Amino acid sequence: FRKSLDTVRERPAQSLDGEHVVLQANAEREDEIRMAVELDSAGIGLYRTEFLFMRGEAPDEATQTAEYSRALAALDGRPLTIRTMDLGADKTGEALDFSLVRSSMNPALGLRAVRLCLRDTDLFKTQLRAILRASAGGPVRCLIPMLTSVNELMTVRALLDEARAELEREGRPFDRDMKLGGMIEVPAAAMALEDLCHLLDFVSVGTNDLLQYALAADRIDEQVAHLYDPLHPGVVRLMRQIFDSCGSLRMPVTVCGELAGDRRYTRLLLALGLRSFSMYPGRLLEVKQMVIETHIGRASAALAHWLNLGHKRHEVPLLNLLDQSQK
Ligand code: PEP
Ligand code: MG
Repeated sequence: FRKSLDTVRERPAQSLDGEHVVLQANAEREDEIRMAVELDSAGIGLYRTEFLFMRGEAPDEATQTAEYSRALAALDGRPLTIRTMDLGADKTGEALDFSLVRSSMNPALGLRAVRLCLRDTDLFKTQLRAILRASAGGPVRCLIPMLTSVNELMTVRALLDEARAELEREGRPFDRDMKLGGMIEVPAAAMALEDLCHLLDFVSVGTNDLLQYALAADRIDEQVAHLYDPLHPGVVRLMRQIFDSCGSLRMPVTVCGELAGDRRYTRLLLALGLRSFSMYPGRLLEVKQMVIETHIGRASAALAHWLNLGHKRHEVPLLNLLDQSQK
């Protein structure tokens, strides 16, 4: 398998039945961005920005703008999807006052990601301004983590509007059409997607958190790792519902959680209807190889069969079924 990866780089990410699939990379460090470009990634589907906030002082607007612009320049015209700071829970640091976060009994269910950003809107607006300023230099997209309610999204949009108006007054350039995306990580948000999609240009599914919340199993707690199962029929149905809703809403959807870079699940995601993946760049070629070796129509039929088995599903290993469907 590995040996044949060398030949995969030059080939288009197209399934056996001719479906085109978009493969992008998750990256934050320069070497990861370089690797993504070398491996022919379509862009950066998830640029995490927490690293800027996890040590020392919070970076000012100029520092952030320079950082984002540098990442964008390294991409040579490919799109850069910048996720606003996803701090709290498993991601804390020194730059911010985390006392509010630490006092929480259940930090993963508490003040984190966009919730924390909306508590300190000065810091958040500084980041939004920096992202907008970077957008003057090429295709930048802004992604908001862990949205739960429409009210949160309306507040984010109001802050973005304020940031745009300020930059306009100051005569600083930015992309007026910068796309705004939301991460789908909260099951209730996934079940009511149309409410959020109405105010978004694209969505990105954070399966790491979505699974944690759907299965009530902490993503970093070894003691419940056996419950953290992407093949749980409830999770499979939830993902199917997300991709189906996005399809009928004509909303572009990517998966940027670890599942997207794990070739064991590539066939499942394709069968569920996903056509856009973002992953650790080191995984791009093996996932592409899997796409090239998959007849999506056959995999989808096998998945539909499995979903209709009712309680007998338990006796039929889904991944084997998907592999057998290809023979
Ligand atoms: C996710 O939750 O799947 C995700 C991509 O975000 P993070 O892992 O940074 O929480
Ligand atoms: Mg997440």
